[in-house]
Amino acid sequence: MNVLVINCGSSSLKFQLINSDSEAVLAKGLCERIGIDGRLTYQPAGGEKEVSDKAMPTHTEAIQFVIDALTNEKTGVVKSLDEIGAVGHRVVHGGEKFASSVVITDEVKKAVEECNDLAPLHNPANLIGVAACEKLMPGTPMVAVFDTAFHQTMPEKAYMYGLPYEYYEKYKVRRYGFHGTSHSYVSKRAAEILGVPYDQTKTIVCHLGNGSSISAVLNGKSVDTSMGLTPLEGLVMGTRSGDIDPAILEFIAKKENLDIAGLMNMLNKKSGVYGLSNNLSSDFRDLDAAAAEGNVPAKIALEVFAYRVAKYVGSYVAAMNGVDNIVFTAGIGENSGPVRADVLSYLGYLGIEVDAEANKKRGEEVLISTPDSKVKVLVVPTNEELAIARETVALL
Ligand code: AMP
Repeated sequence: MNVLVINCGSSSLKFQLINSDSEAVLAKGLCERIGIDGRLTYQPAGGEKEVSDKAMPTHTEAIQFVIDALTNEKTGVVKSLDEIGAVGHRVVHGGEKFASSVVITDEVKKAVEECNDLAPLHNPANLIGVAACEKLMPGTPMVAVFDTAFHQTMPEKAYMYGLPYEYYEKYKVRRYGFHGTSHSYVSKRAAEILGVPYDQTKTIVCHLGNGSSISAVLNGKSVDTSMGLTPLEGLVMGTRSGDIDPAILEFIAKKENLDIAGLMNMLNKKSGVYGLSNNLSSDFRDLDAAAAEGNVPAKIALEVFAYRVAKYVGSYVAAMNGVDNIVFTAGIGENSGPVRADVLSYLGYLGIEVDAEANKKRGEEVLISTPDSKVKVLVVPTNEELAIARETVALL
């Protein structure tokens, strides 16, 4: 079956058409600037990437252009919509309602909508993508795969904040965690690569990208993760602050005359390694280059990033009373040997020994610990689209 995987944002939409039997990507692309003007990037497997400006006042036009591209006589990869058996949608927040993927029904859409205030930038956009697909592909089954679902196995002691209990009762204020599809895929894949039983293994996954999070996966179940009610908690990220003393907010609000929206903008968009590097860049390639030339804020940003990752790894070793495998994934985790080495330099006490040659590799599945290392350390490229396609087929 061919599965169309959709990751819909407020003004963008990423897509992949995946054949679930061969797990090959038949075509992929991106619609950008939806509601502004509109641009489609489309690439069939083995073919040239095409970029074209197209008017996309709403997501419905965007999906129509995706369908047109996929079924185009010359560059398309299917003859008609009949060859697309299902659509898998990435949905960011499933709250406490969804601990796994579901076939989308009217009740499911209503329940996702009820989670909108937990992810006001993402969930409404995800639902718009669902509605647009339903309009243009009537009768095609659709599945929602939630970023939060994998972490619904966290125990109360991991997900409750030290806040008045009534906020949990009234508003469901608690930790949810994100990147669940990635943490699940990567932890499972690591067990497969090593030939160990997933349900008897302690894994720590470091998903280090522009957004970063860590998870503790005990016997195949997430028992803790670094993001919280929103993706702002935890690691220092590209532009997000991660954990800070909450009292800083009042202090800075007064000094800089900022309201709540101004503070949230600062924490989400102007902080992280971008803010730390004195607004140099949120991209680790730029920071590496600058640090190599002696740029002090860039060097500090890189050090703060790795130190925070290492501290979280240590805390998850405590949470699971040990660790068998540590896995690096996402843009930085897959590509940056220096960041991995920096993180692992704090973890010698676990008996970790790094294979420096293997750690030079980028973007491929590779064991980067030595045969003597007490903990296995791996790089596993994440593949959220494939995981969504698999979930979709499994449910249907
Ligand atoms: P992601 O959000 O997973 O797509 O990760 C994107 C981030 O990965 C970029 O902002 C970069 O910081 C980082 N990245 C990508 N390629 C490299 C590389 N070769 N070396 C270091 N960092 C990289």
